[in-house]
Amino acid sequence: MTINGEVSFWWSQLGGAPAPRTPLPGSREADVCIVGAGYTGLWTAYYLARAQPDLRIIVLEQRFAGFGASGRNGGWLTNSVTGGRAQYVRSHGRDAAVAHQRALNETVDEVIDVAAREGIDADIVKGGELNIARSPAQLARLRAAADDERSWPDTNVEEWDAAATASRISVAGAVGGLWHPHAARIHAAKLASGLVTVVERLGVTIHEDTRVTEISSGRAVTDRGTVRAPFVLRATEGFTPDLRGQHRVVLPMNSSMIATEPLPAAIWDEIGWDGRDVLGDFAHVYMYAQRTADDRIAFGGRGVPYRYGSRVDADGRTHRRTIGALSALLREFFPAASEIPIAHAWSGVLGVPRDWAAAVGMDAATGLGWAGGYVGTGVTATNLAGRTLADLVLGRDTDIVRLPWVGHRARRWEIEPLRWLAVQGIYAAYRAADRVEDHGRSARTAWPAAVADIISGR
Ligand SMILES: Cc1cc2nc3c(=O)[nH]c(=O)nc-3n(C[C@H](O)[C@H](O)[C@H](O)COP(=O)(O)OP(=O)(O)OC[C@H]3O[C@@H](n4cnc5c(N)ncnc54)[C@H](O)[C@@H]3O)c2cc1C
Repeated sequence: MTINGEVSFWWSQLGGAPAPRTPLPGSREADVCIVGAGYTGLWTAYYLARAQPDLRIIVLEQRFAGFGASGRNGGWLTNSVTGGRAQYVRSHGRDAAVAHQRALNETVDEVIDVAAREGIDADIVKGGELNIARSPAQLARLRAAADDERSWPDTNVEEWDAAATASRISVAGAVGGLWHPHAARIHAAKLASGLVTVVERLGVTIHEDTRVTEISSGRAVTDRGTVRAPFVLRATEGFTPDLRGQHRVVLPMNSSMIATEPLPAAIWDEIGWDGRDVLGDFAHVYMYAQRTADDRIAFGGRGVPYRYGSRVDADGRTHRRTIGALSALLREFFPAASEIPIAHAWSGVLGVPRDWAAAVGMDAATGLGWAGGYVGTGVTATNLAGRTLADLVLGRDTDIVRLPWVGHRARRWEIEPLRWLAVQGIYAAYRAADRVEDHGRSARTAWPAAVADIISGR
């Protein structure tokens, strides 16, 4: 029987939700208050506590640390620039875009190094990222992406033909692959829970089961009291619309995953995947996967993308249709694994800003800081955001506070029902484009996808 929801497979594997930490016991004072205990909040707390051990740091979390996307993701620690580099060429010039890419490359190693130094075992293997094409139109996009990547320094991509791709990971129907080395596989919840242990050891206070209803200069208001602090940092990502006055800042988009039971060695002999690369594809409604440390396949993609009115989450419970669609695609990719049961299915929410550009910033006048909008690429970026927020709070003039995403603000999302209609339209168009391309009816990107790109502002 497939387990549905229960936050995520990753948390189930660690024995379920951790024992709850104490809620906020009434109003308190702090030097820094962080709202949200996902990777963004935890990394920010980590770097602040390391830099200035006497800071009084309080983290407020509505459920438990790692409850959100940080405890549910596909475990791609990779160097993606959310929304692409071109936006930074337009806003800040090419050098700034290159600096941003380099910072993300370095951040992949920073996470790996800190985990090693602090004793966090998160099943990390740096095997690179492989994205495959399974149709002529996908191959055309792969080639265009390869050309674009090669025009930038430090992207280090390798373009592979069908045989080279199959010798790395044998995916049925793959006609080519694009690989780069700046990516590692991680176990989402092990990274979150490891970070919790480390920050608590450094003296950070985390209050769980404490929902912040409103953030304003100098205070975070909760149902259990108010935390007053000169710096209040919002790290609430896809849950941000629940905060007073922030309903249209990001759009909470769902992503869903399944994990198989462990595959026997004989099937792994057929599939390969010895390098533990993270695996994706060039479909419009793309998939993402990893081979887990205990030899399962964890496989994700878009399910029901968006709930009307920015309603957020039901502990990861996933639509049966989504589980069916992901299971079918997994079996299409890996026919050898078609008899392996699906052990678990779950979903989580991403934060999508109106321009798909992640951002981090702090307003010195109010002491209010924020980071997020990573869409599906936050595992690495949250570390860079946490380091940046720490530097901004401490008033340090470092290279990373000058990166082009610092201080960026996207415009707000439309009101309902426009928001709902736009997302339904975008994903219907992407799915339609994938169907056309899969049937070989288009050797280039099918037109509905181009329309969807325009509506979504990508
Ligand atoms: C299914 C899925 C797969 C993904 N796969 C990948 C991947 O492979 N690679 C990648 O790079 N990215 C991936 N992502 C995205 C990535 O996981 C996120 O970008 C990243 O974890 C964001 O971290 P965060 O701390 O900003 O947000 P979250 O982890 O969502 O943390 C926000 C926290 O704030 C708390 N909170 C929210 N509102 C309040 C409030 N009002 N009061 C108190 N607490 C509050 C929440 O409970 C939550 O714990 C995926 C996301 C999902 C959902």
